[in-house]
Amino acid sequence: MAIPEKLVNVHAHLHSTMDVAARVAEWRAHNCRKVVVLADSAYWQPPNSVYLGNAGVLRWMREYPDLLVGMGNVELGEPMGGPDEVEGLKDQGFTGLKLEMPTHPYDHDRYMPLYERAEQLGMPILFHTGWVYRLGQQDRQRRLSADHMHPYTLDRIARSFPDLKIIGAHLGMPHCAEAISLLLGHPNVWFDISWDVADKPFFARLLKALSPAPGADLDDPDENFALHCFERIPFGTDDPLVGDWLPVAQRLLDRLHVPEPTRQDFYWRTADRIFGWGL
Ligand SMILES: [Zn+2]
Repeated sequence: MAIPEKLVNVHAHLHSTMDVAARVAEWRAHNCRKVVVLADSAYWQPPNSVYLGNAGVLRWMREYPDLLVGMGNVELGEPMGGPDEVEGLKDQGFTGLKLEMPTHPYDHDRYMPLYERAEQLGMPILFHTGWVYRLGQQDRQRRLSADHMHPYTLDRIARSFPDLKIIGAHLGMPHCAEAISLLLGHPNVWFDISWDVADKPFFARLLKALSPAPGADLDDPDENFALHCFERIPFGTDDPLVGDWLPVAQRLLDRLHVPEPTRQDFYWRTADRIFGWGL
């Protein structure tokens, strides 16, 4: 596996059980210049699961300020966070927001003040989109539905807040056609193709979602829409190591005949444009 000269990981998590120093070393060994770390909702935090929330992520952002870029979480359940909490996260040093597990569709009126404040503050938002794993008691309490996280729920937000930068996660799996129409149609929407396991079944699902009709000329962007898609898909891993996810991603790029300049967009340039680091 060839390691790109520059890499940005736009979708990473830290766990309460993780050796964070070892994880940071793995990211650096794979030439990650920035790693966007997502703080998770109470839904996923201990004792329900192992994911770190705002306080946990903030601690590690301060430990590795050159590498880690924090996305703070605002709760979309009951009780719900408000726009002042968005501003508070900005003041603490979070660059953007991670939103997930809403009790209402993402484009419900109740959430609009959060997006408005994030737009004003120049904070990109990464939304979980598509299917999400079950978590027993938490699902029961929240009456959670993956339908609230359909990619198309980002459409109204993208139109209403044109200066808000929106990244959808997981190509909206399994609603990838929606995700693709959003990322090709909105200048302020991008999607990552991360997943919480870097395995063959997920590769197969991504390949199916991003492949053109049989017989298409893979090197013609008018026939192979994946060539345009990868200009707007930044690299992200979710839970897997970069060393596990990168070969999966590269196999996908090879199968879809993605040319070298577009690969650089995918590896780091698109993320650099979204966040404005100037890498
Ligand atoms: Zn994730």
